[in-house]
Amino acid sequence: MTFIVKIDCSKCDGRSDCKDVCPVEIYADPKDGKCIVDPAKAKETKTEGSVVSCVVDECIGCRACEAACAKEAIKIEEKE
Ligand code: SF4
Ligand code: SF4
Repeated sequence: MTFIVKIDCSKCDGRSDCKDVCPVEIYADPKDGKCIVDPAKAKETKTEGSVVSCVVDECIGCRACEAACAKEAIKIEEKE
């Protein structure tokens, strides 16, 4: 199964709680104060408004990042 990681940059505080909990280290250090997926792991990146979506093969869909994000800025979706 492949997952899409969606980050709403308008909500993100850049404190990296998501990065701290991801067991497969898909998040990089924040850029310009906003969370980003490691560019080496992000595929098919799309930006719609303030939301950046990317397919991440390494993501196992555990949703630990979603749960850790106090700003509800992350959504993990299954890729169809
Ligand atoms: S946990 Fe949420 S608010 Fe914090 S850096 Fe990650 S996406 Fe941004
Ligand atoms: S769902 Fe799990 S594996 Fe995927 S990015 Fe979030 S914490 Fe990492």
